[in-house]
Amino acid sequence: MSEARRRLILDLDTGVDDALALAYALGSPGVEVAAVICSYGNVSMRTVVRNTCAVLDLLGHPEVPVFSGADRALDATAPFAPSAGVRRIHGENGLGGASVRGWCRMAPQSALGYLREVATRGDDVEYVATGPLTNLATELVNVSGLGGALGRVTFMGGALAVPGNVTPCAEANIANDPTAADAVLRGGLKTRMIGLDVTHQVVLTRDDTAAWRNLGTPAARFFADMVDHYITIYRQNNPQLGGCALHDPLAVAAALDPSLVRCLSANLCVDLEGPTRGRTVCDPDRLRDAEKSCEVALEVDAARFMDYFRVRVTRALS
Ligand code: CA
Repeated sequence: MSEARRRLILDLDTGVDDALALAYALGSPGVEVAAVICSYGNVSMRTVVRNTCAVLDLLGHPEVPVFSGADRALDATAPFAPSAGVRRIHGENGLGGASVRGWCRMAPQSALGYLREVATRGDDVEYVATGPLTNLATELVNVSGLGGALGRVTFMGGALAVPGNVTPCAEANIANDPTAADAVLRGGLKTRMIGLDVTHQVVLTRDDTAAWRNLGTPAARFFADMVDHYITIYRQNNPQLGGCALHDPLAVAAALDPSLVRCLSANLCVDLEGPTRGRTVCDPDRLRDAEKSCEVALEVDAARFMDYFRVRVTRALS
């Protein structure tokens, strides 16, 4: 599939692997990041705004508009604050403790006004969410015609045939707001799920971060520091992987080139109660429906993705 003149709206909770996803997008030929919408998730929403602006500045793209989004799950009564476990994985600042600078920017506006313009104009954009699905659930309710305008939305999250990474059943982005994810998956929107089934098959190692250090740019050093922290934690939590999983970059890659993954067509829902809360599962009530709204990635061409990743991220960091 051609990637010429593709425009992306990225819905991020930046985050180490969100930063990598941003670099992948900015380093992709013929791709424009039209906007970034921020979500709570790896860190608070305010910190996500700061991190997103910092990474955009570092990568030489301060012109990309950054919008604010949800600061908590749909059912939450207080703004999100990351757990000790999440702070350990992504670092206290969400970027592996790598030094963040140059993020002075105006307070961002809500994404809803921007998305109303996108829906009204019928812009040809790909929407990729790599955080909780709270923003998307809220936007679909508040922006009329958005679902039709966006076409198929790609999200990183969920686990169909593999265990979760927060509980034995739940993946982190879904676990952060199961209600929102269920609303998105049962709301008629066409989606593409890039879950742990495939993201644990694409792994970055210290050989790659060493190559970035050799580039010698501030951006490359920053990304090497950030990802080395992430790999250290992965070695403790997931030693069998041999590096860190590239969750969010794979979602961007699959949105731009769906042939990177092979999918099961299914109608999904999310378990909202009990010990399986946060599990993505085929919806028993829609099992026999001819129309399937979600393409669930179960296989990935890992070698081709890693080639793309190395070339594109190196371009973004150079
Ligand atoms: Ca993320």
